[in-house]
Order: sequence, then structure tokens, then C-alpha cells
Amino acid sequence: MIKDNIKILFDKIEQRCESCGRDFNELTIIAVTKNQLIEKLYEAHDSALIHFGENKAQEFKQKVELFNKPVHWHFIGHLQTNKVKYIIDAAEFIHSVDSLKLAEEINKKANLINKKQKILLQINTSLEESKFGIISDDNIFELYEFSSRLENISVEGLMTMAPFTDDEKIIRNSFKSLRFFKEKLEQKYNTKLNELSMGMTNDYLIAIEEGATMLRIGTAIFGERS
Ligand SMILES: *Cc1c(COP(=O)(O)O)cnc(C)c1O
Repeated sequence: MIKDNIKILFDKIEQRCESCGRDFNELTIIAVTKNQLIEKLYEAHDSALIHFGENKAQEFKQKVELFNKPVHWHFIGHLQTNKVKYIIDAAEFIHSVDSLKLAEEINKKANLINKKQKILLQINTSLEESKFGIISDDNIFELYEFSSRLENISVEGLMTMAPFTDDEKIIRNSFKSLRFFKEKLEQKYNTKLNELSMGMTNDYLIAIEEGATMLRIGTAIFGERS
């Protein structure tokens, strides 16, 4: 079943890439494995998925310990500073950096293991108070400047979660605004940011059209979470 889901998913992604002139190969498809049994991860891996994402620090650590294939691990959820220690060894990317304090702690822990940690800055593009992530140009500039000066951190791009709605225009605007933030940072700091992590089961096709490089997909691969 997972195998079929992945085939359907890949077909849809490929078709959308074609219709909007993008290259399928420049997309990283992250299987979001939260709440899934380890067997399911093997099934996904058998269908050529090699990027996995978790949103809780302890569960991330458990999955990494249980799953004995060399895959790319992404931490995608809200991260408290006291839990950085659970994920720092295995996380190739941390998608959800939204404060100076967190960036500082990641830098500190990465330094201890001599690692340059790739991070994304999480932006709140939906203006919902309940969502994590930073808002406003000033805060984003401040966090970017601070993080990019840290020795053991590499800022690779931006991440967002679109609001939960059926209104395609609202979702699209949220993705557009992430892309605009990326362009603003690139211009202001004369730099290049590689990644835009945006798009989940409900909205990944829109995200592709708006320039996503990383899709974080759970339900479309594994079915509804229990
Ligand atoms: C759960 C989760 C996803 C995947 O959600 P689906 O709708 O199941 O595809 C993506 N990103 C984050 C941050 C998540 O927590």
C-alpha cells in the first residue's frame, strides 16, 4: 500500500514539475514518519525514499536508533533548546530554527561534535498566532545575521507551514511570501540560499509551483495517522 502511495505521489509530482517547467530531480521528498511504526519506514525505503523527517526530538532519536539504513534525517518540528542534544548527531537538516537562543544552542552542541549543522529558518507566513516561526523582516534579518555568523551552523534556506485551509489562494500566498523572504535575504546579504522547505500532503502541488525544493509529506505516503 505504501508502495502504491509512493508511486502515485511520484507521478503527481512529476506531472506537476512538467506542467510548471521544473526539474523533478531538484526536489527532495522527505517522508514524514511521525507516529509510524519502524516497519513502515522500511517499506518507504524499499520504494526509494531516502529522506526521513520527524517532528519530535525523542521520537527522532528513537527512529534513528531503530532504523538501520543510511538515510538522510530531517528534524522538522518545533525544537526546545534543551532537546537539541537528542537530534544533533543524526540530523542532516534542522528545518525549524526560529530563535536566536535556539540557533546559539545548536551551534554550541554542533561544536562539541565538530559538526557544521545545516539549518533552515522557520518563517510564519500565515500570520496565525498559534504557529511557530518568526514574522517581520526585522526579525528574519536579525536571525539570519546572527545564525550565519555562527561557526558551526550553515543557513541553507527557509521553511514554512501554510495555514490549514482549503483556500488555495491563501496557501499560495503563504508559499510566495516564503520565496520573497528568500530573495530579500539573498539580495541584502549577497548570498545564495538553496532550500525552500514547503508543501505537505494537502498543498505540495502548489508548493512545487511556487519554488519548493523540499517537500515534507506524511499522509500521502503512510495514510492517515492514528
Ligand atoms: C506532520 C508534518 C508534515 C507532514 O504532514 P502531512 O499533512 O501528513 O503530509 C510536514 N511538516 C511538518 C512540520 C509536520 O509536522
